[in-house]
Amino acid sequence: MAIRVLSDVLISRIAAGEVVERPASAVKELVENALDAGARDIRVDCVEGGKKLIRVADDGSGIRAAEVETAFLHHATSKLREIADLSTIKTLGFRGEALASIAAVAQVTCITRHAEESSGTLIRIDNGETLAHERHGRPPGTTMTIERLFERIPARLKFLKSAQTERGQIDALLTRYALAYPDVRFTLTQDGKIALQTTGNGDMRDVLIETHGADIASQMVPIEPAEQTLPAPDMERPGVRVEGFVALPVMSHGNRSKIQVFVNGRPVQDAKLTYAVVQAYHTLLMTGRYPIAVVKVSAPPGDVDVNVHPAKAEVRFRDADGVFSAVHRAIRRSLLANMTPPEAPSVFKRAESGEFALPGDGAASGRMSPGGIGRQADHSDAVIEARRVPVQRPLGGEAWERVGVSRHGSDTPAIGWGQAEASRSTQPEPTTAPGRTLPALRILGQLAATYILAEGPEGLYLIDQHAAHERILFEKLLAQHEAGTMASQTLLDPVSVDVPADAVALLEENSAMLRQLGLDIDRFGGATFLVRAVPQLMAQDDVPAALRDIAAQLESGGAPLRSEIEANVLRRVCKRMAIKAGRVLSFPEMQALVRDLEACESPRTCPHGRPTMIQIGMGQLEREFGRLGR
Ligand code: ADP
Ligand code: MG
Repeated sequence: MAIRVLSDVLISRIAAGEVVERPASAVKELVENALDAGARDIRVDCVEGGKKLIRVADDGSGIRAAEVETAFLHHATSKLREIADLSTIKTLGFRGEALASIAAVAQVTCITRHAEESSGTLIRIDNGETLAHERHGRPPGTTMTIERLFERIPARLKFLKSAQTERGQIDALLTRYALAYPDVRFTLTQDGKIALQTTGNGDMRDVLIETHGADIASQMVPIEPAEQTLPAPDMERPGVRVEGFVALPVMSHGNRSKIQVFVNGRPVQDAKLTYAVVQAYHTLLMTGRYPIAVVKVSAPPGDVDVNVHPAKAEVRFRDADGVFSAVHRAIRRSLLANMTPPEAPSVFKRAESGEFALPGDGAASGRMSPGGIGRQADHSDAVIEARRVPVQRPLGGEAWERVGVSRHGSDTPAIGWGQAEASRSTQPEPTTAPGRTLPALRILGQLAATYILAEGPEGLYLIDQHAAHERILFEKLLAQHEAGTMASQTLLDPVSVDVPADAVALLEENSAMLRQLGLDIDRFGGATFLVRAVPQLMAQDDVPAALRDIAAQLESGGAPLRSEIEANVLRRVCKRMAIKAGRVLSFPEMQALVRDLEACESPRTCPHGRPTMIQIGMGQLEREFGRLGR
């Protein structure tokens, strides 16, 4: 083929790909233009995830009739005059590329009226070709309508995801801008239904309730401004301000997606800043749990380079370390200031139950087991202490950080293996049944309300009660699931649950699969779901928290195989249901747990692959005590 200069239309279609990758990127550019135009009310309507139609209407400054055509030219912008302006840029846009790019790959209809002009303009451009340009009435502001996106670019069209997925992207995008601009009223509709609506009253809390749901929002505290009295001169870099809201550790998320960072009003994805947020929760969250945070960093425009990436999602700081530590300190300080101080050590209520009861922390209120065996969990003469660090309203055991220990005084007689029978009729036979991967164990007691101490033929076993229970539940659920007999319990009163806006599409998309797992949910409108039935084993669980966790699990799953999602959800359910560390167990409870564990196919690891037990062999004990060769 001969070398040829490409036509302008072709050039701009190729270039458009950089800016407009998918419907959400078009929405992003249009919303940013509306914000740059000083809009206080922005309405976004999408049909079929933006594939069919995107409309963004604002009440901003509008475009002068004489400039409308120019606005659609490449490198046409009102926001930048010379290179020096880049260092003081306060607007979200400055490249003058968005409108031209969108108009090159779709049909755009723009109706706009400048605030100082008496009449407006309509212009329609179809894949780079102007179809109409006339006077048109409207109140000051701009409405951009995008239709037939990528219709002429089959390669791009092919790579678009399902309408649901695109919708989810747009939901997430608007969520971010709503958080970044609480004084702007945002309305988002998807296929005619309201997906997100904020009041624009400037109150971040009100926005948080819309975007995160009332439950999460109620656990979020403002990031406190720096305390002037603190001596450290680098406390906050001059000019760097950190604001926003962070969730107390009682509320956390299964991945990093709820850590939202903004720099000078721009949502950014910055690994280092995200890490600063995670670090601020160091030791406050369990491993595998991530903060929920909305962090707004403002820095002098000259200290930030926003011109790193065409989509402007990346930024560079002149003093990245300074910004990092400002974010870290501000959040840490706010968390510590808002967490209630540790309580004095308290004596636990003893576990009265004789029967092994499923979860519901502290719900061990079953019957006494028949016979009231002498070794019954009688902790009255045992000193059990567990100092917990409460973090405001506790929501389930995971929220607690257990730092104390419990000791069972008289409960652990020093009897050797095999001698137990005489004193304890309920002990399992000290034999290893054929096909077992774990020998029968004799329980000695509980350590720190977290570990079960047991003796086996090979020495001492330390069993993590939470991990062990997770394994047991996982195998039970998996068996039920594979047999198609997943028991489901219909709730008498459906539970309504608010989920984060960006979880809506995921839950809807996976609702059929969830139903097979026994979880029957229905969208009720907005970001509210009605839970009608739950897996039997989940019946006593905190349903709203479980649903949000499952949504997070789906989200972090990327696009795995269906079976992987299912296994993930099962794991999740088990994690939630398993008895927590920090719960005192009665002897029969421990026995039941260990017996069930013995029956597992893979008793030695939890479903997440962590060990359920540590074994200390007799040989090792002898070595440690220097008995060998004595
Ligand atoms: P940029 O935002 O980088 O300047 P765009 O291609 O997005 O480039 O927009 C080009 C110009 O069109 C903007 O600089 C602005 O003057 C004008 N414009 C676009 N959208 C709007 C809007 N919603 N309200 C007012 N002016 C707008
Ligand atoms: Mg723009």
